[in-house]
Amino acid sequence: MFSMDLIQFQRLFNKEPRYRLEQAKKALFHDLIQNWQEAVVLPLSLREELNKKWPIEISAKTFVSKDRNTIKALLTLKDDLKIETVLMRHKDKRNTICVSSQVGCSLNCSFCATGKMGFKRNLEVWEIVEQVLFFARYLKKIGERVTNIVFMGMGEPFLNYQNVIGAIKILNDKEGFNLGARHFSISTVGIVDGGIEELAKEELQINLAISLHAPNDELRSKLMPINKKYPIKKILNAVDDYIKKTRRRVMFEYMIIKNVNDSEEHAKTLVRLMKKPLYFVNLISYNPTGIFKSSPSSRIKKFKEILEKDGVTVTQRYRFGEDIEAACGQLVAKDGRK
Ligand code: SF4
Repeated sequence: MFSMDLIQFQRLFNKEPRYRLEQAKKALFHDLIQNWQEAVVLPLSLREELNKKWPIEISAKTFVSKDRNTIKALLTLKDDLKIETVLMRHKDKRNTICVSSQVGCSLNCSFCATGKMGFKRNLEVWEIVEQVLFFARYLKKIGERVTNIVFMGMGEPFLNYQNVIGAIKILNDKEGFNLGARHFSISTVGIVDGGIEELAKEELQINLAISLHAPNDELRSKLMPINKKYPIKKILNAVDDYIKKTRRRVMFEYMIIKNVNDSEEHAKTLVRLMKKPLYFVNLISYNPTGIFKSSPSSRIKKFKEILEKDGVTVTQRYRFGEDIEAACGQLVAKDGRK
């Protein structure tokens, strides 16, 4: 089913036979057309009307990393604001799209370029879907497809809950983009009410990730001011309820920052929080954006060993696209116009 703000799109088919809408959805999500003129199954007059009232061209500049595994797109929205979307191409043929959910962000995490921009507005459902379509079209040209979508770009997805879930439903819809629910992940700073609690009630098998980044409230509040409203214990209680309801694993992201959260003591405190069934930790090396530095790999290795020795499940994400400033908000911040 199409989401609320696409009712306007469906209305364009009111006078058409039922199958026209299906043909248009197939052209858009399956054939990945870039302009309605390419949808030759539709009558010319309808294609012209669609191009006028529901244009599907996406305006973007792309930046490709030296190893060509990371491609970042700076998309221009209809009100001229800009957002970032990143494609990460993995060795095992997975193609992950990191999408934005807001223009800017109100939460001002100290390590994040987006936070420095302040909040501009929430993205509409279609603006979220378009980010995925942009890279789906890009990948089609080289015979590949989008395999995973993560809400880890600009903004806090749970502060735009309805539109994020609306976009996921379109992208998951069999008549739409048809990507399996298990291939979506939402990453949150830990918004409990209207966020983790709501997601537990959805009948969607998507993945939940919590941006933790610190093992105690004192440090976490310094890095992420939202921790004062949602301290670690409150988040973990909500996660435990979520796990009880969904029986799904939850990922805790821990970005390792040199001399900030990377000591042995930090690792040991983290073990005490994370030693629970269906919890797992994803260690991320930090993409430097100014005041902080990334930890040396020997320190990250030691940190990981401490967690593993005590039975915590750990994965490690390697840095993507450092040379094109692939951490969220870095390009828009540099672009400087918005
Ligand atoms: S890390 Fe995420 S939640 Fe924090 S300021 Fe950046 S975009 Fe917002």
